Amino acid sequence: MNIFDRKLKENGLYPLKVRWVNQIVANVGYRCVQRCRHCYMDSSPERTEEMPLEIVNKLLTILKEHDEISLLEITGGSPEITPYFKYLVSSAVDMGKTVATVSDLVVYTEPGMQDMPEFLAANRVKILASLPHYDEEKVDMVRGKGTYAKSVRALKRLNELGYGEEGSGLKIALVHAPVGPELARDKNILIEEFQTNLKEMHGIVFNHLIIFINMPVGRFRRLLTDTEYTEYMQLLQDNFNPDTIGTLPCRGVVSVAPDGRFFDCDFYVAAGLPVKCESTHVDNFDYALLNNREIATSPLCFLCTAGQGASCADCHS
Ligand code: SF4
Repeated sequence: MNIFDRKLKENGLYPLKVRWVNQIVANVGYRCVQRCRHCYMDSSPERTEEMPLEIVNKLLTILKEHDEISLLEITGGSPEITPYFKYLVSSAVDMGKTVATVSDLVVYTEPGMQDMPEFLAANRVKILASLPHYDEEKVDMVRGKGTYAKSVRALKRLNELGYGEEGSGLKIALVHAPVGPELARDKNILIEEFQTNLKEMHGIVFNHLIIFINMPVGRFRRLLTDTEYTEYMQLLQDNFNPDTIGTLPCRGVVSVAPDGRFFDCDFYVAAGLPVKCESTHVDNFDYALLNNREIATSPLCFLCTAGQGASCADCHS
């Protein structure tokens, strides 16, 4: 039994099981227009892995055959630069699914991508946009020089289209993470600061703030010395909060890697920890098995359960 399961057991919460799968998170490729230093996926412009059409079509068949799955979230890399992104979005929307996409924002300022915000608005796609902070220096330190200015330009364009505007039905959530190996600050204070500063400095509005802490795999893990890594994991463990278990993202999700394999979450796609279930791939999808599976926990789960926990539960409200 791993240390996370032992903690669950101490709190009468073992084993961690799926509650109700109503969402597929499709990672359509690791290539990204950015090379952020906190990226657990190790995404960059040099990555080449992307979901082939065959897997995209199998995913669409699963969505079509399962009314229980009402939500498709698309992630990457920069999902928008993969070849079948628009096809996947339009097909899922035509089936009546709610579609959300993770975005680095910078992608909308790239050549050939300028029409993407209009496409997303027309399909009422929710946007989960990476903006680690409202402060330019902090964003550029984590995501590269000039990123903040491009992100602000992209957010203003999305606001012009109605994203973030009350009553428009076009939702945008910003994704915050601290700079280093630390817990996030109080969620309500962060929301207030983001709202006030982005409004006052740039006139930007948004619907939700999603708060993560940095996942020590991929590029972020390599930034840490072994001592820093050990201290970070201990900090997370010491701050285990049993109240976070009810809203863990993995309890309603199947994550799909670009090659069609299933995982409990996108963090686990990055860490290479597959589902503990006989249904392992789009080729042998079995809703009943996946819906009854036990989550393949590991010490990385302390990331989602420390302090306030990962706040993705409210990002699709
Ligand atoms: S890392 Fe988080 S989302 Fe992934 S399986 Fe563990 S608790 Fe669930």
